[in-house]
Amino acid sequence: MTFRPCSWPTPVQPLEYVNITCPHCGACNDTEVDLSTLPASYVEDCQTCCAPIMMSATMDPDTGSLLIHTCREND
Ligand SMILES: [Zn+2]
Repeated sequence: MTFRPCSWPTPVQPLEYVNITCPHCGACNDTEVDLSTLPASYVEDCQTCCAPIMMSATMDPDTGSLLIHTCREND
């Protein structure tokens, strides 16, 4: 049995890690976005104040970069 650590195929995981700022308390939150399901919207609970953060993720068709918009749930 031969162990070949470098030959293992790397699975494609279209996850982008992003930092979002809590619209309630201003704390930074780390979260991840599944690029295969864009556009998508999520509700993330703030890791600091536990308030719900509405978060929408889209891909900019011109630049191909990820756009994140956050707002309060009631806005
Ligand atoms: Zn917060």
